[in-house]
Amino acid sequence: MSDTLLVMKFGGTNMQDARAIRHSASLTGRSLSAGVRVVVVVSAMAGVTNGLLALADAAESGDIAAANDEIAALRTRHFTAAQELGAAPDSPTVRDIREMHETLRQAVYGVYLLRELTPRSRDLIVAFGERLSAPLMAVALEGQGFRAHHLTGGEAGILTDHHFGNAKPLPTTYERVKDRLSGLLAAGVTPVVSGFMGETERGAITTLGRGGTDFSATIIGKALGANEVWAWKDVDGVMSADPRVVKDARNITVLSYGEVMELAYFGAKVLHPLAVTPLQESGIPLRVKSAADPDFPGTLVQAQAQDEAGQPVKAVTAIRNVSIINISGAGVLGIPEVIASVFDAIARENITLLMVSQSSSMSNVSLAVQSSDAERTLAALRAGVSRELKVDRQSDVAVLAIVGSGMRGQKGVSARLFTALAGQDINILMISQGSSELNISVAIEGAQVDDATRAVHAAFGLGVRAQAAD
Ligand code: ADP
Ligand code: ASP
Ligand code: MG
Repeated sequence: MSDTLLVMKFGGTNMQDARAIRHSASLTGRSLSAGVRVVVVVSAMAGVTNGLLALADAAESGDIAAANDEIAALRTRHFTAAQELGAAPDSPTVRDIREMHETLRQAVYGVYLLRELTPRSRDLIVAFGERLSAPLMAVALEGQGFRAHHLTGGEAGILTDHHFGNAKPLPTTYERVKDRLSGLLAAGVTPVVSGFMGETERGAITTLGRGGTDFSATIIGKALGANEVWAWKDVDGVMSADPRVVKDARNITVLSYGEVMELAYFGAKVLHPLAVTPLQESGIPLRVKSAADPDFPGTLVQAQAQDEAGQPVKAVTAIRNVSIINISGAGVLGIPEVIASVFDAIARENITLLMVSQSSSMSNVSLAVQSSDAERTLAALRAGVSRELKVDRQSDVAVLAIVGSGMRGQKGVSARLFTALAGQDINILMISQGSSELNISVAIEGAQVDDATRAVHAAFGLGVRAQAAD
């Protein structure tokens, strides 16, 4: 056996049915057969997370029949997959799945009785997606002749704070994960861990935010000092734009941790925004690989950026459903205490600001926030700042960002961006560039975001065709 240890993460599409799970198990098996030790981390079957969120809302609103119908559908989906993967009806795996559905049903009934869905109960309910898919992967691996054992995030040692819905690992997580998983690995058993979830010190289940299985995988990678973390996807790695929007988007061979964080933060769903953070100190590489084309190298994410001459930008990305909150009041906003009161109000509500800009006359401050945070932002500002200030909201906005370490110190990049947008008759509502110069972002009308993305992608020559013409 080699000393190599890999953490492999499989997302929802790669877990969507028995066929996909069997294929994912075979990708794991390729490494296991070569003597590599592997920890597998899985997402819920595609669509299950959204289904669980919807049924929890239905129970809260009193529609227990709709919630129960959805639970029954989920139950059938998981049992069918287990059966197709060869699990016997009386096997421990099928028993586990049955018990989990029963617990889920009880939790949902509790929400219905109370007509109250707290962030804590939502996490308990939504984490069942990953808890139910891990046993299926373990069955698939066993079916291919490997020994496997499934664990919840908490059982695998992931201990988090109390931010239900968006929890972060506590520092003790890393030692715990090592303790919990090393024995299995040494015994030649492949741990299959439910992604997206952890638990608090008192054992309450938490989730790490949407797309959190990427984060689970890198937390485990750091804990075990893995050689690499591989995130298997339904795309050819990280691309120059969302391939659903830009047809000729191209694979990016190498990205730095910083570039990936900017991309994820500005809406590229391909990785969780915090996924690379556990890898930064140790320098463990992350590979984003295509499950459909396993020999294609995909994208290597590492500490060092790699820039091509004459190519300052690597990718274009966008956040939809944004609102701009305008705060105005000539003569008032220039006073430092007034500005402080604006940011205090935002901080108290724990709202993420996507962009901030201030007019030089100091009569106006604009904040871009996710539309889901807009009402809370308005309420916090109206309660927390001087009545002399006017606070209003512009909805249906999007933030588009260009990302690439090659922009650092390069002149003319913004000009190219603005010219591309002007060419499509797109009006810019806000502009910002961080001092790291890894990105430039602009707020535009939401309806124009796809056209804008395609125009900017073409203007920086990022597409397959543009590259071929070089
Ligand atoms: P997984 O379940 O495997 O984590 P996700 O659906 O969360 O997969 O992420 C992959 C999806 O992210 C792709 O299907 C793609 O549409 C979208 N995406 C958005 N931006 C990018 C990008 N720059 N590169 C690759 N995929 C992207
Ligand atoms: N299943 C979770 C989600 O849909 C976590 C993940 O897929 O990474 O957000
Ligand atoms: Mg994802």
